Amino acid sequence: MATQRTFSIIKPDGTKRNLTGAVNAVIEAAGLRIVAQKRILMTRAQAETFYAVHAARPFFGELCEFMTSGPVVVQVLEAENAIAKYREVMGATNPANAADGTIRKLFALSVGENTVHGSDAPETAAIEIAQFFAGNEIVG
Ligand code: GDP
Repeated sequence: MATQRTFSIIKPDGTKRNLTGAVNAVIEAAGLRIVAQKRILMTRAQAETFYAVHAARPFFGELCEFMTSGPVVVQVLEAENAIAKYREVMGATNPANAADGTIRKLFALSVGENTVHGSDAPETAAIEIAQFFAGNEIVG
């Protein structure tokens, strides 16, 4: 399989606890390359656009509140099969179900405050990367 890119976010619970480096260490140890990265404060509009697919879910308001509650680190990760690989490294959405050694098992606090986001398909990865990065900010 060719080199692929995925979009990642270290969420506010991670930045708040000073875990950016610890999360990045797990990402890099898994063979994913961080080819773009910046720390930002997401606006409410950005969060609502990003999670639009969940707009009808009961936790949507809480999710957008959380994602704008502190800094996040948005990233582009590159590897062969990066999308599936990062989903594996992240672990299950609910940390109670996450496998040992995954980022969410290691660091997540709850199903909401679960430390990281990762794209789930090539189409969403492309849309998510484009929402936060210009092409010349990604250096592979
Ligand atoms: P992911 O792809 O593993 O991040 O999971 P989903 O796409 O299903 O959900 C997106 C994000 O919404 C999750 O990572 C959580 O931060 C949040 N979320 C999902 N389910 C719940 C829930 O039941 N309660 C709350 N507060 N947040 C949730």
